[in-house]
Amino acid sequence: MTTFTHEQIQLLLDENCCHECEGVGRDKVCVRIEAIAELPSRFGDFHIVAFSNNHDDKEHVAIIKGEVLEAENVPVRLHSECLTGDVVGSLRCDCRDQLEGALRMIGGMDKGIVLYLRQEGRGIGLTNKIRAYSLQDQGLDTVEANLALGFRDDERDYAVAAHMLMSMKVSSIKLITNNPKKMQQLTEHGIRVVDRIPHIMEPNEHNRFYLETKVVKSGHMIDFHGKEHLAEQSDRPIVQGMSEDQIHKFYD
Ligand SMILES: [Zn+2]
Ligand SMILES: [Zn+2]
Repeated sequence: MTTFTHEQIQLLLDENCCHECEGVGRDKVCVRIEAIAELPSRFGDFHIVAFSNNHDDKEHVAIIKGEVLEAENVPVRLHSECLTGDVVGSLRCDCRDQLEGALRMIGGMDKGIVLYLRQEGRGIGLTNKIRAYSLQDQGLDTVEANLALGFRDDERDYAVAAHMLMSMKVSSIKLITNNPKKMQQLTEHGIRVVDRIPHIMEPNEHNRFYLETKVVKSGHMIDFHGKEHLAEQSDRPIVQGMSEDQIHKFYD
């Protein structure tokens, strides 16, 4: 199965090398496709697309399965980079479970896209995120640590994501998210979002605390070490087996 033919790749690269536009959103974000290559992985056969942009020097990427050019109803997941979670498997957050869940889901579909956005620690960077962790270690509560961690700039995330999807000429998407409100944000940036696919992770020894009612209190996530998790992805986790009640608590 081919995601892109060589001709399509060349066409996309040729078009993008001179691409300029008014930009998307408040920050007038504009991105360009810089490179495309095959990326076989343990989750499936993907292509990876590297982007540059006019706003930060971050190298955002799209991980693509199947034919997405001018395609309708393409399942799309937005993931924010988390070095400690994605790479090291940190248990201070659920980023790795969320990422693996998305890659596994899309790897099993005939088409889909994971946009891997390089905004570590909600855009404040790795060092500041580790500072926030350190504050928690010293006993600060989640509210204080969250203040230290900063609040993610959702508007910017969705502008970058929307333009990346436009660059890949995706006609319409199904957003893989547990938060219905997220569909609206991409729509506002000009993406046709036709449906939502719930993002439900498989239970494992690391996320089982989400399944236990006592650790989901008024939307806060407390792990089995008694530490509160900071929400590093823009989506709250839903693990197979969680009750409706627990899920609602995340979104109250
Ligand atoms: Zn542009
Ligand atoms: Zn994380």
